[in-house]
Amino acid sequence: MPHSDPPVAAEDDTAPESTARLEEDPAAAAASSSAEEEDVIMAEADGVQGVVEEHIPGAEPPSAQAQAGAEEADDDMVEITQEQRPGVKLEDLFDGEDSEDEEFPSSSNALKVEDQGAATADDAAAFELLRTYYQRCFPWRYMFQWLNHSPVPTNDFKHREFSLWLHNDAVMRYQSYMTSDLFRKDVLRLMPRRIEIGPVYTADPRDHKTFRNSTAFQALAKELCFDIDLTDYDDIRTCCDKANICHKCWRFITMAIKVLEAALREDFGFQHILWVFSGRRGVHAWVCDKKARTLDDQQRKAITGYLEVVTGGTQGGKKVNLRRPLHPHLSRSLDLLKDHFQQDVLEVQDPWRTAEKAEALLQQIPDPSLRAALRSKWEASPGRSSAAKWADIDALAQSGASSAALDPRDLLDAKQDVVLEHTYPRLDAKVTQQLKHLLKSPFVVHPGTGRVCVPIDRARLDAFDPLAVPTLQDLVREIDAWGGGGGGGGAEGVMADGGGLDVKPVQDWEKTSLKPYIEYFRSFVTALMKDEKEAAVKREREEEGVQVKVESLEF
Ligand SMILES: [Zn+2]
Repeated sequence: MPHSDPPVAAEDDTAPESTARLEEDPAAAAASSSAEEEDVIMAEADGVQGVVEEHIPGAEPPSAQAQAGAEEADDDMVEITQEQRPGVKLEDLFDGEDSEDEEFPSSSNALKVEDQGAATADDAAAFELLRTYYQRCFPWRYMFQWLNHSPVPTNDFKHREFSLWLHNDAVMRYQSYMTSDLFRKDVLRLMPRRIEIGPVYTADPRDHKTFRNSTAFQALAKELCFDIDLTDYDDIRTCCDKANICHKCWRFITMAIKVLEAALREDFGFQHILWVFSGRRGVHAWVCDKKARTLDDQQRKAITGYLEVVTGGTQGGKKVNLRRPLHPHLSRSLDLLKDHFQQDVLEVQDPWRTAEKAEALLQQIPDPSLRAALRSKWEASPGRSSAAKWADIDALAQSGASSAALDPRDLLDAKQDVVLEHTYPRLDAKVTQQLKHLLKSPFVVHPGTGRVCVPIDRARLDAFDPLAVPTLQDLVREIDAWGGGGGGGGAEGVMADGGGLDVKPVQDWEKTSLKPYIEYFRSFVTALMKDEKEAAVKREREEEGVQVKVESLEF
């Protein structure tokens, strides 16, 4: 598939203007998408609507919650996943399988809330651990400010959909809260194992049923989101597969962040980009600029098309097929990626060490004579490293092993395609394309690893270690250990967090290794709020200006 043209005039140096054009011309942006695709998306959306529920079977301990759910199961309470388990260990409490990174629950697996086992002692202990986390570590205030864009509650927060995944796999869609404190109280009451964030609607999401068959209830805004998952790199990473990750393959995520950051900032003019560790094997990006939040589905789709380069799954065959000359975004990406390719791919991953893998590389070499020369050289030295094989391509081409008909330009193009195939970000497009798509909240605890989904400081990207991110158990231990075990300050910590008092007692999260992540998040949110405020003031002035003009016209 040829790389599509940018949906905006990205050749322009003035990024904000290109974004403005994007907003002005959704029709052009939509031009590439067929009606068929539209139907698919609508069907998906309908499916999601189908699993909507909003009843709150008020519940604290797991067993009571399950029972309450069972009583109401025939109506609104909806079950999402196939697996129902009584919950034994911490990881099981969260249903610790690999599907947790799927942002849309599968609606076809609706089950009823029955057969929930009684809570075991382990279950209760794990529950308490999570409760402690929500009470004492979760950054409620900054989460509120992040989504609200102002210190005083606005519709940005009040009309925002939250979806709560309860321990028994029930998913409560269309939850919403008037204040940060009500949000916190509800989470502490229901103890969801996962919180997802959806769009801001035109009305309170809890009232969505009163708008049935009406167009008055619409998704208005949501951050532009990206999802990158290392399982999508299984065909090119040699160190790990499936849910496993290590420092070697995490480099693919680092590369992806660098490329997307550059494109989002330079080509689209976005500034407030929050990267969040998804807890195990990937990252999410939340582009929070107002102009990103108000993009419609067609514009989101167009941006996805602009950024998508590597296609196809784990099947063989060429995954990158780009038009020449390369789009400036891709030339820049190649520049950003070339050292990573040399170091993190050739040296560390060594992707073509085996004969079978080397053959796949040969298939991408455009000249039969050169292919044959390389093949015989590599067969003569089994186990030759990927770095050496890569160098062989140019060396042999220059020594005359290729046919006279080979255009050096074609060889270079083929090599660039290979570099991009092994380094360019692999996106889960559906997360980006739909305004309505829900995404796991930052600071949720990942079920399988117990690690917190922490924001990643862009300035320290290369130093980010996914395997060193604190777990729930770490945090509770750290709080207990702080100040000789005098960790009784939970309630104060939360109050101070929500109250904005001048007197600052040490908050519980400050006693833990979560501190640098929350501090980074706080600085991110502060910068975002500052921009929103300045924009609002400017708008006000402009409106006043218009008013003055109108008045002066009257005379
Ligand atoms: Zn690995």
